Amino acid sequence: MWQISGDLPGTRMAVLGGVHGDEETGIGCIRSLYDLFASDQKKLKCGKLTLILGNVEAIKIGKRGTSPEHNLNRMFSDRHLAGPALDFYESRRAHELAPVLRSADVSIDIHSTSVPTVPFLPCAYSPRHEKVYRWFDADIVLSDPDFILGGFRSTTDEYVDHCGGIGICFETGYAKDTSRLPAVIGGILNILADQRMIEASGHLKPPRPTYRVYQLTKKIILTDAGFSFVKDFPQSFHKVEKGEVIGYHGRIPEIASEDGVIAFPRAADQWIKGHDIFFLARKIK
Ligand SMILES: [Zn+2]
Repeated sequence: MWQISGDLPGTRMAVLGGVHGDEETGIGCIRSLYDLFASDQKKLKCGKLTLILGNVEAIKIGKRGTSPEHNLNRMFSDRHLAGPALDFYESRRAHELAPVLRSADVSIDIHSTSVPTVPFLPCAYSPRHEKVYRWFDADIVLSDPDFILGGFRSTTDEYVDHCGGIGICFETGYAKDTSRLPAVIGGILNILADQRMIEASGHLKPPRPTYRVYQLTKKIILTDAGFSFVKDFPQSFHKVEKGEVIGYHGRIPEIASEDGVIAFPRAADQWIKGHDIFFLARKIK
């Protein structure tokens, strides 16, 4: 964790990468941003910037977490943070990071997915959030006001929102493809300039994307029966129609109860019994 302070007061921003240790784009973002400030190529004028490599132990071994069951991005719940840290690294790390996130005006958590996808923004859809994430090259927002993802408020962005800040999560694309790294760093530098934390390099013209907005509605869990898709393995935001059989848990069909899309399909080699295979979402805008 690196904290950089400007000479003047201003926005307190936390940028996180590697909350999942095998997501290279976010890790590369944090290291590149650190290099830019450490070498004085960029100078923080105002506010405070905290650059965080999230799951340091998982990054060391190139895995999502220190074990498949431990997901650092589900540890930021009131219940978990209210008690003492549990006896595994992700729990201790969440307790370390919580005070930084609690005091942040803005947090940006950079992720990538286990299967190829277009970039999207899995965070709240609001004008406050849009003012920040509009600088990223993405036009899909996947909101989760009912906390379908974790079952309760548990992600970094949800925690920051709950503490009164603006929590952003950005899924930059496929984890094995780091070609989007320069564009993501460019987006973060524009956000810093827009917050007047650094000098803008040239005229800052806010992009005005029209967002497609979805809301998570259901988590589909891997049971003992296994799961097979009826069609090919789905892309993120693949459309499903009401009544469509998406796949089978053994002999039991998984049927779409309304028109919508598939969200966060997990690569089959990462399926764990009792955990999500994919989610369903409905279009709200
Ligand atoms: Zn991730």
